[in-house]
Amino acid sequence: MTFCVVGSGFTGSVLARHLADRGYRVTVVDERPHPAGNCYTERDPETGVMVHRYGPHIFHTANLRVWDYVQRFGTFSPYINRVKAIAQGRVFSLPINLLTINQFFGTAMGPEEARTFIERKTDTSIINPKSFEEQALRSIGSELYRAFFHGYTRKQWGREPSSLPASVFRRLPLRFDYDDNYFHSPYQGMPVNGYTALIENILNHSRIDLRLSCSFEQIDNDFTHVFYTGPIDRYFDFRPGRLAYRTVEFERFVVPGDYQGTGVINYCDKDIPFTRISEHKYFMPWEQDHFEKTVCFREYSREAGKGDAPYYPIRLTSEKRLLATYQALAHKERGVSFLGRLGTYRYLDMDVSIGEALSACDRIDEALQEDVFN
Ligand code: UDP
Repeated sequence: MTFCVVGSGFTGSVLARHLADRGYRVTVVDERPHPAGNCYTERDPETGVMVHRYGPHIFHTANLRVWDYVQRFGTFSPYINRVKAIAQGRVFSLPINLLTINQFFGTAMGPEEARTFIERKTDTSIINPKSFEEQALRSIGSELYRAFFHGYTRKQWGREPSSLPASVFRRLPLRFDYDDNYFHSPYQGMPVNGYTALIENILNHSRIDLRLSCSFEQIDNDFTHVFYTGPIDRYFDFRPGRLAYRTVEFERFVVPGDYQGTGVINYCDKDIPFTRISEHKYFMPWEQDHFEKTVCFREYSREAGKGDAPYYPIRLTSEKRLLATYQALAHKERGVSFLGRLGTYRYLDMDVSIGEALSACDRIDEALQEDVFN
């Protein structure tokens, strides 16, 4: 039996490694000239800073199996993601916490006082929030929503927040204490040698043949089974239509010394065309003082067209209908499994992708035992 894995991001790499460890030959193809998908990191040639070429990736998880798994292939250094936001010309702490609330309203409230204060500002007539906007108005009220979410979300998604799902807003916590840790995960860190080295270690196995700059369409498919982690609509030649994605454009700039004093600053005001600026040396605090120059990226979000890297799936009702058509086609396709962020068209964090890939490995073991691949 031979297997093919399409895509060398976390999902594909975890699957390939598992099959190789079980004694099977695996061909991994990736059309990019490098492995690691959108997690790819490399040293910036001008400054020497380790940069996340496809935008900041901060590893965080509550899943111990996932955390143990990544430790096998790389050393992680503690890193806490503390995001700042510039809104209405002032700097605030995100996610919204007691400091944000007190600074924004010019108050000095304690947790319970702030909770009552914010509850009074919310729209309690919204019983079952259906959209991003309804969820925001129900949770934080209109002033905080307008300042931090309305403009940013329109830039990020290119749509009115009233047309976006409530689940996008619910990704972010609202805290009535001074905890400014962006993620509420017990395990959080950065791989000390970057994500590329980590994923290369996962793929480093004598039975794995990694073919870069090679698309799935270019290879002869005589494999027992294909694990496809590319975009699901592309596999079917976009026949029923294209699923919508947002893509991100990065504007790189280098300055001497420091630029913004932290890893990420969000720009929430609508008249600023970019969503955020990231300064990548801060993602590796243990070496942030080693550089003479610093490299930063402004992020511009726009609708993905042909040939653009797909970033964020836009799961609106129309897309969900189209996705259901693709899911039906995928279900009928023999000898292929569709996995990962692009293979299932979902907004997945790295740890969720790895967790799902490990669960798929469990199912692969069952299938191998029952001999269903033959
Ligand atoms: N968001 C916002 N302002 C911010 C940060 C986030 O309006 O300063 C919105 C935006 O729509 C984003 C969502 O909240 O997509 C979830 O935030 P998260 O940080 O999870 O966004 P990501 O960059 O992962 O999409």
